[in-house]
Amino acid sequence: MTIARLWDGLAALVYPRRAVCMGCRSQAGFAQDWLCDDCRRLMAKLWLGAQPAPEVPGIAGAAFAYRYNGPVKGMVRQLKYRGTYRLADAMAADMARAYRSLLPTGATMIVAVPMHPRRQRRRGFNHAGLLAEKTAALTGLDCSNALSRTRYTTQQARLSREARLGNMRGAFACDESVRGRRVVLVDDVCTTGATASACVEALRQAGAAAVYLLCYARAEPPGQDRK
Ligand SMILES: [Zn+2]
Repeated sequence: MTIARLWDGLAALVYPRRAVCMGCRSQAGFAQDWLCDDCRRLMAKLWLGAQPAPEVPGIAGAAFAYRYNGPVKGMVRQLKYRGTYRLADAMAADMARAYRSLLPTGATMIVAVPMHPRRQRRRGFNHAGLLAEKTAALTGLDCSNALSRTRYTTQQARLSREARLGNMRGAFACDESVRGRRVVLVDDVCTTGATASACVEALRQAGAAAVYLLCYARAEPPGQDRK
């Protein structure tokens, strides 16, 4: 038995495909990977694709696989907080499909929203980086680590849009590898656009010719309108 086969066997034990739906945690069992039939139907209704994103100034276009709701939340949380890495394949396939709705972009490079090294050590991996890598492989774009965090920022989840913008301003640095290139910025979820906006600013300052935004999901900020 090869190492890969052995690994697949072990993974099947750890992630039993028929046991729990990643969307709703139902244990009813289902025929396909990760999602029960109900969640799969719901996901189809949440599909977005190319969308205007005025909350992220300076971008050439944006696409989101899904609205951040129901089973989509389940998928993101499973990847992000429970480290179910194998979900990233299915999520990246949806992101690649969303990206195709933006074509032609002329883009040659994918750049992930980076995580601060301290947080990445704690969580074990950067989920946005994983999605970026897999989406790059599916779309034929180069995957780059051009962006980095210049400082540790507090968790954004409970902050207002204004607070998030302040929290993120100047939090990213970008290397010269993006100069003259059209790049696709990748994140898991876009809520107020504060993180993406700060990344776009860093990319543009480093000379990126154009920046597109590609996220797995787009959330409505709680209790407030986008601006
Ligand atoms: Zn389900």
